[in-house]
Amino acid sequence: MTPHSSLPKVGILAVQGDFAAHAEMLQSLGAETVEVRTVADLESCEALVLPGGESTTQLQFLQEEGLFEAIKKFVAKQNVVFGTCAGAILLANDVQHPAQESLGLMDMTVLRNGYGRQLASDVFFGKSKLQPTPMEMVFIRAPVIEKIGPGVEVLAEYGGKPVLVQKGNLLAATFHPELTSDATVHRHFLDMLKANAAEREAVSAQQ
Ligand code: GLN
Repeated sequence: MTPHSSLPKVGILAVQGDFAAHAEMLQSLGAETVEVRTVADLESCEALVLPGGESTTQLQFLQEEGLFEAIKKFVAKQNVVFGTCAGAILLANDVQHPAQESLGLMDMTVLRNGYGRQLASDVFFGKSKLQPTPMEMVFIRAPVIEKIGPGVEVLAEYGGKPVLVQKGNLLAATFHPELTSDATVHRHFLDMLKANAAEREAVSAQQ
């Protein structure tokens, strides 16, 4: 048995962007991953990663493939979803700079490419609740989380802005934890899956 053999299968939207880096990191932590390109792929999974890349291209693909509605249903069924950078933009319920349609699942306002040129693409260290030492953060034309709604927890921040946030089964990072050797954020994501699976089991045992 692998250490995480009881974990649900993790789907990774594999249209464009750095999906392979997420797969590699999750596999190194013992999780099984599936590349998601169709609704049927998504239905074989119990958790999903929306990777970085270009949110406009990804959004168009989701709409064309029926995945846009399928992901909303997937979240309504209490599955865990993790969005990084472009993926965080897709999860937000308010996208600006420029305005763009999104899945509208996470109560936050994001500004695309919001850090301007200084922070266009670079590595920084910021404070995180997940570890005592500063967390390494790779920003690539990152969005700024400008506002968060009630109940959205800030797990890490950089430059006075939230950069890793969670609400229930949803996790969003404006940086790229899959591009460092620090697996803390992915480990947290797998812990969310374990907690979610345990909760489901408890509920079905009561029924
Ligand atoms: N700037 C990209 C967008 O707006 C996101 C960049 C990234 O995912 N690294 O979609």
